[in-house]
Amino acid sequence: MSASTAAIRSGITEGFTGAVGHTPLIRLRALSELTGCEILGKAEFMNPGGSVKDRAALGILQEAEASGELRPGGTVVEGTAGNTGIGLAHLCNARGYRCLIVIPDTQSAEKIGLLRSLGAEVRTVPAVPYAHPDNYVKLSGRIAAETPGAVWANQFDNLANRRAHYASTGPEIWEQCERRLDAWVAATGTGGTYAGTALFLKERNERVRCVLADPHGSALHAWATTGQLVSEGSSVTEGIGNSRVTANLEGAPIDDAVRIDDQTALDTIYRLLWQEGLFMGGSVGINVAAAVETARRLGPGHRIVTVLCDGGDRYRSRLYDHEWLAGRGLSQPVRAERG
Ligand code: PMP
Repeated sequence: MSASTAAIRSGITEGFTGAVGHTPLIRLRALSELTGCEILGKAEFMNPGGSVKDRAALGILQEAEASGELRPGGTVVEGTAGNTGIGLAHLCNARGYRCLIVIPDTQSAEKIGLLRSLGAEVRTVPAVPYAHPDNYVKLSGRIAAETPGAVWANQFDNLANRRAHYASTGPEIWEQCERRLDAWVAATGTGGTYAGTALFLKERNERVRCVLADPHGSALHAWATTGQLVSEGSSVTEGIGNSRVTANLEGAPIDDAVRIDDQTALDTIYRLLWQEGLFMGGSVGINVAAAVETARRLGPGHRIVTVLCDGGDRYRSRLYDHEWLAGRGLSQPVRAERG
């Protein structure tokens, strides 16, 4: 019995770490009725740091501690779109490390402000493509190498990320579904959530269909369907999509891929708010819309699981702001009068 299982049984968890994971699997009623499938969302926004990335942050730190690379009083450095940094900042406080975060200045003010409130040292940098030497991920690696006593979390290519999902997200979903599910649908940033969970579920039942969801502006949909890493368009969603195949995504099973445009993602998160009472971030819109599309492709009677990655609070000044959306050619969905 693991420490966390013991904690669940006794009803008491051990600090922040003990509260990571064991999230509910929520039936999305209206969309399930609409499609005739059972669409289930893993409530990762309920992690103590507010996102799915708490699992990866914890897994990365635990492996770095176990290997001796991360020592008491050390520094954790990471390049992040925000959520991994938020998870790391909480964990560094709880475990006595310094936390240094490099984040593109295109990410929401809410996430950047939160990182600072948590006590992380935050460096905002211009968003430049991965090929550029000053890309935020590469820069974070250089800072870690130059800082004494520092480790680089390296969430994109450090397989501790997907191992955390293989060891927790996958088994939780499998048990919560009582070992019966037809499809697993998720967008990928690092690929850790998608790949770790897909590898676990496929091992349990090879008939579980693994579907990669992708926003516009990412090369992964084309890569999964044609083998070519090419992209077109752009997306206002944060933390998902990629121009390359990370070590975490490499070798993951992919049976199908679905690409979702921003307006559809936006319509989906507003539906979740109005119909389910769930206030969600943009990547959830991509995931849930892709789950609905997967339901259409499979036909009624299937059980489909996806991820509710983080909450809407982190995007209030963007996805929930009429003017911000209008400035990007997106229309804020209008709520119908309730009779
Ligand atoms: N949604 C959000 C909001 C995220 O921050 C991330 C992580 N970048 C993801 C989805 C994707 O998770 P992963 O890195 O495990 O692919």
